[in-house]
Amino acid sequence: MDERKILIIEDEKPIADILKYGFEKEGFLVKCAHTGGEGFVMACQEPPDLVLLDWMLPDLSGVDVCQMLTERYKLPIVMLTARGNVEDKLYGLESGADDYITKPFDLREVVARVRTILRRFDRANGNGEEERWQCGDLTVVEREHSVYRQGELLSLTPREYDLLLFFLKHPRQVFTRSVLLDRIWGYDFAGDTRTVDIHVQRIRKKAGLDETLVTIFGVGYKYVP
Ligand code: CA
Repeated sequence: MDERKILIIEDEKPIADILKYGFEKEGFLVKCAHTGGEGFVMACQEPPDLVLLDWMLPDLSGVDVCQMLTERYKLPIVMLTARGNVEDKLYGLESGADDYITKPFDLREVVARVRTILRRFDRANGNGEEERWQCGDLTVVEREHSVYRQGELLSLTPREYDLLLFFLKHPRQVFTRSVLLDRIWGYDFAGDTRTVDIHVQRIRKKAGLDETLVTIFGVGYKYVP
């Protein structure tokens, strides 16, 4: 099974440490943040598969962080709190949290609940074993936003990744530069069509698509696997 990434946002270091220990022992990749702001930045830099989020943080409240994350990312969040009353629990769940664990907790129970939530989330999003797919000598792992070529991870910017995936998913279709600009960069992007050319050149080089990602002179590009 793939290693799943857990981000723990918890200011009480002993609690963060015990959670980290428990999840690492079970084969998860764990990162810890000790403030809401730090946690938010870490989640943006490297989106985890799940966030364990403390309710009471020194800078922001856990509910604020939860809302900031769920506005931007589709990822499960489990709130941790010392509070046990029903209103808080409902408030936490309304703010976008997927589950709620009350401190003190049983470490095995936390791990078991996280596994359940990840499975439920994978199913709800159609992720599963099939989300790792192959295209020529490329392996795409969409959950990780990663593409591997002959087992080696390609270093792609987010745009390069989006563009590469777009071609891989639409083989044998010709796309003009302006359509690609709209689809990958969005309608309000201020750059011009040379941006597309530059990115196509880069993904050709990085993913070894010199012969398969072809230029249709005067029109645009086509991926021919
Ligand atoms: Ca706390």
